[in-house]
Amino acid sequence: ETSEEADPGKSSSEDPASAALPGLKPSGEPLVIGFTMDTLLEERWKKDRDLFVEAAEKLGAEVVVKSANGDDARQIAQAETMISQGVDVLVIVPHNAEATAAIVSKAHKAGIKVLSYDRLVTNADVDLYVSFDNIEVGRLQAEAIMKLVPKGNYVYIGGADTDNNARQFKEGAFDALQPSIDRGDIRVVYDQWSKDWKPVYASENMREALEANGSDGIDAVIVANDATAGGAVQVLEKNGLAGRIPVAGQDADLASIRRIVAGTQTMTVYKPIGRLAEETAKFAVALAKGEQPAATRRVNNGKIEVPSVLLPPIAVDASNIDETVIADGFHSREDVYGAE
Ligand code: BGC
Repeated sequence: ETSEEADPGKSSSEDPASAALPGLKPSGEPLVIGFTMDTLLEERWKKDRDLFVEAAEKLGAEVVVKSANGDDARQIAQAETMISQGVDVLVIVPHNAEATAAIVSKAHKAGIKVLSYDRLVTNADVDLYVSFDNIEVGRLQAEAIMKLVPKGNYVYIGGADTDNNARQFKEGAFDALQPSIDRGDIRVVYDQWSKDWKPVYASENMREALEANGSDGIDAVIVANDATAGGAVQVLEKNGLAGRIPVAGQDADLASIRRIVAGTQTMTVYKPIGRLAEETAKFAVALAKGEQPAATRRVNNGKIEVPSVLLPPIAVDASNIDETVIADGFHSREDVYGAE
């Protein structure tokens, strides 16, 4: 690999005899990664699962996947089962940032390292966090919308307040908005979370915002992700406002890319999940072997400064769909634009 920097600490370069795959134990057996997920009911998480399993298997490792369906007790119980079955490392996508801290201490008692995937587990001794720069996600949303609406009334519809990412998306968006808010150019007239990232709650929020401010009283809408943006756009459509009020989302979900083509959503934030999955698989294997991967960043989770690797998110609007999501094979041209 020419792109990899030489690292004399790496075991593979110390031991020329081990040309074997990195995900194998000295016995030749695969290392087993436990992957505990919040949900598989949303488009992106199915991609995460498939790409992560694929990346881990390429390294020779094996993945046991469990989804908790948004249930904290269930996620903890599933992780406990993996721990007692002796997985070599645990990778968590927490439903609830706080509640899953219990998993981290249980894993550590059993000598199992824990990697937080995409979402951070808070108040816990997480060994490594691999995600996108989620503050930047919020910033990209606000910056894109402010270019179109430098002055006016903004609605912010957040994600699940139990998800640390939702807090970071909001922090990033408000960071970017703040100078305009201070100047009096922008007023945030509505600001609410959407419980469990459910689109129905985002619709409810959008309805409430319209009732409180009237259709002339809203100039722009920032929604934390694409599924919830879909909920908001539905309400705008019913009120004849879709396409007239700029809307931001996140995830580059197919439905949102199509809305961007149709003009009812302004932008989304694309996070190349394949890269996240590959980086995580590599780091999970390293942790399983007792190595501490070199992390470039630190993110405070309320307890420690968690060693973190944060990948860059990419703003996507109608002007760069082709060279981003389509060029990457994230979506096919036919799926986005329909058959010729
Ligand atoms: C992820 C988003 C996702 C949301 C809802 C967040 O933690 O970063 O990509 O849309 O959860 O599942």
